[in-house]
Amino acid sequence: MVTGFDTWKCHICGEDRPDSKISVLSKPLIINGQVCGEQNIRYCNDRRACILGAKDFSFFKAREVE
Ligand SMILES: [Zn+2]
Repeated sequence: MVTGFDTWKCHICGEDRPDSKISVLSKPLIINGQVCGEQNIRYCNDRRACILGAKDFSFFKAREVE
């Protein structure tokens, strides 16, 4: 089976990486404290900053006012 050389954009660093270097983290999408669905965050599995960034990443991150 030939799958070609697929690349994916890392959501953390924004780079296009080969499929083997990208992992997906599924997290519940929470808006205003309610689960509204799921978000799939792609990150480089060979970059520590991206792995750590993915854990903290959200597409709909609400900035808290302190
Ligand atoms: Zn990355």
